[in-house]
Amino acid sequence: MAVVVFDMDDTLYDEMTYVQSGFSAVAEFLSNGYGISSEDAIMVMNNELMDNGRGQVFDSVLKHFNIWSKYIVLKCLAVYRTHTPDIRLLDDALECLSLLMPDYPMYLVTDGNKMVQNMKVKALGIEQYMKYCFITHRYGIRHSKPSPYVFHKIADREKVDFNRVMYIGDNPNKDFVGIKKLGFKTIRIMRGSFVNIERPPEYEADYRIHSLRELTPKLISNMIGH
Ligand SMILES: [Mg+2]
Repeated sequence: MAVVVFDMDDTLYDEMTYVQSGFSAVAEFLSNGYGISSEDAIMVMNNELMDNGRGQVFDSVLKHFNIWSKYIVLKCLAVYRTHTPDIRLLDDALECLSLLMPDYPMYLVTDGNKMVQNMKVKALGIEQYMKYCFITHRYGIRHSKPSPYVFHKIADREKVDFNRVMYIGDNPNKDFVGIKKLGFKTIRIMRGSFVNIERPPEYEADYRIHSLRELTPKLISNMIGH
């Protein structure tokens, strides 16, 4: 028996769609509260995102419109984190989960803010496919990837050896390095912001795919056996 475990961000859905959905919510907040054009606000946030990444996006948009204060930055952050995300499973993810669900116990393992990740899980409707969705931060930040903590829980729960458990993720910095050496099987999906990152072998997955359509029962049994 094989157990199939998925990462969420940039594995099952496109994380940039979450960012855009959050920017829309913040732009709406700025439009309602401060009379700023939401289109302009979104444009400014996207320019900042492209130039400097996510760190200063809200500072930057508030400074641009001359309304910066620590308080409004925190309000924007709260709006972003608590908004109902407008996100959906990628087509290949939907197909893959539907195909595998009848025959394999499946789990989700995701890092990140507990409330934010939970809202993504709900918005994507992932729970219907999974025996359980592990949001690692619920167990303490020290148990986030690359910690194998929740992967041990999955193997215990399914009463299988580690080499019967397969993890599919996109981030070679943390998705594989903690579990591969213990015998878990690992697959890297080549998409998202880490697609061009090459790491030393201990960080890399056992196998690479470009679409979840490649994650077939045949591939699973080739990697894990029956
Ligand atoms: Mg990911």
